[in-house]
Amino acid sequence: MIIVMKADLPAEGPEVARVVALARSFPGITTQVHQVQGATRSVTEIHLHGPTGVIPTTPFEEFEAVEKVVRITEKFRAIGRHGGHLEAPGFEYNGVRISQETFHVFAGVCAVDGRQHLDTTFALLERHGLTTARAGAYKPRTSPYDFQGLGADCLPYVFELAGKRGIRIVAMEVTRESHLDEIRAALAASGNATGVMLQIGTRNAQNFELLKAVGQQTELPVLFKRGMGITLEESLNACEYVASGGNHRIVFCLRGMKTNLGDPHRNFVDFAHVPVVKRLTRLPVGIDPSHSVGRRTVAPDGMLDIFHVTAQGVVAGANLVLVDVHPKPDEALCDGPQALLAQELPRLLEDVAIVRRAYEERVRAARAAAQAA
Ligand code: PEP
Ligand code: MN
Repeated sequence: MIIVMKADLPAEGPEVARVVALARSFPGITTQVHQVQGATRSVTEIHLHGPTGVIPTTPFEEFEAVEKVVRITEKFRAIGRHGGHLEAPGFEYNGVRISQETFHVFAGVCAVDGRQHLDTTFALLERHGLTTARAGAYKPRTSPYDFQGLGADCLPYVFELAGKRGIRIVAMEVTRESHLDEIRAALAASGNATGVMLQIGTRNAQNFELLKAVGQQTELPVLFKRGMGITLEESLNACEYVASGGNHRIVFCLRGMKTNLGDPHRNFVDFAHVPVVKRLTRLPVGIDPSHSVGRRTVAPDGMLDIFHVTAQGVVAGANLVLVDVHPKPDEALCDGPQALLAQELPRLLEDVAIVRRAYEERVRAARAAAQAA
């Protein structure tokens, strides 16, 4: 059961305390208080855990400060929409608002491979008005002989350079809990020059201990990459691990599924699931066209396959695009073949702007049709 308080009541206030006290007076019930920061208002939710089926809703509804009481379905308790009764407000982090309504492009290197390349990349982002980036320091690689990432050593200059170029969030994969401490320490040492969104890679989609670790802290949001060989439901349950720990600032990112049926693309593009995840959950949904396609092949119309699949995700309402770009893909130590060239980034940005407008127009037309009906 979720009790939604009226807008703008503080989570620490007496109204919330009274509802929590009543909830806890029922046998076996525990509570989690969760502040949801929307674009225009902040809402406190009280999540009840335990045998809630036998609890009546009326005593809660009688509180003046309670907006509504939502009986939740078993599935996706923390991230679900529960029959559309819960809003999807998203979150704000380091001045950037991310929700099922907003749109951002996170561009950058798959793996940090030196200060110079990274500086050139971040300068490119700044030139094109991007304040959201990607840069991997810890790389889970299929072969132990491949480049494993520069790790904690590169963090000081990653954050310094990001700050210098006005980048507000860097999406960065973590593969073990201690990476969180390294990132937090380096961020603090940089004077919090930027922010970090912790990426859970597809290979760790069911690393439950790691999911718990990123879920039990609320400082840094999480970009969860869909598991490449598990069901959508299993991936959403992985996000439940994060949210049930207390961290609700999660983006669900599609990145293609591993199967030969997607050949010649690296993964079978799954961006048809953008509206599905938006319907099932309150999470903003991202797409990663680079890891989905995995190569810089060009269609006869002159556009890269990466552009085409990006457009497919954006026209379906994706909220975030995570895309690889590298100043010298031939020299990249990881995933060079799929990185956009510097001159291709502005073309991609123009293309996504066209497609995002088309999406917004589709939404307006659909709403008008629904109103007329
Ligand atoms: C990445 O984004 O750097 C990455 C490794 O992606 P994935 O986990 O989706 O393969
Ligand atoms: Mn990669």
